[in-house]
Amino acid sequence: MKILLVEDDDLVADSLARVLRGSGYVVDCVNDGQYAETAVKTEPYDAVILDLGLPNMDGLEFLKRIRSKKIGVPVLILTARDSYEERIAGLDCGANDYVTKPFHLGELEARVRALLRLGCSNAPNVEIGELTFDTVRRVLKKGNEIIELSPREYAVMEILIHNVGSLVTKQKIAGALSDWEDSVSFNAIDIIVHRLRKKLEPFGLKLQTIRGLGFLVEP
Ligand code: CA
Repeated sequence: MKILLVEDDDLVADSLARVLRGSGYVVDCVNDGQYAETAVKTEPYDAVILDLGLPNMDGLEFLKRIRSKKIGVPVLILTARDSYEERIAGLDCGANDYVTKPFHLGELEARVRALLRLGCSNAPNVEIGELTFDTVRRVLKKGNEIIELSPREYAVMEILIHNVGSLVTKQKIAGALSDWEDSVSFNAIDIIVHRLRKKLEPFGLKLQTIRGLGFLVEP
């Protein structure tokens, strides 16, 4: 899952990006509203964490502009502006959630997880065959047995699980796994999928390669 973090306070941005990356998310950071607008127009983000006080374009202005252009990416506002009028304004401009600083990291991460479930079934656990994909603990398991996955294997699995029965292209996986500093090659994706397939086959879950196109998990 890929997150755009829009924050002009370098200290907050660096520490939050580090924590989110540590949890397995791909994170791009921008420190101004105009760059943020360009970023959401060009990259497929799964969520945006948005500060309001930003140089060049205020966070609320950014939000109004992307919503008016029908960009529906889930947005969590993270701000020091804590009056109820400001919360109402943020939500009415199209934010999906609103968190005020200082914030509890655990709560923020839980809210991000909830945000990323929008558009899926909203359930914290996704069942596939005899396996359970636990989006809270970020593990794949059978009963209580955890199937060990590397962060990248987990990230690929996450995309496939959310697209069961549909073709997932290598471009889509590459886009979801790459950030601005580190892009993932098609060869690397083949290797990740190969490893994943070996781990999943004993559990009866088939990960098909559609030659030249991408991958498919049957429902
Ligand atoms: Ca700010």
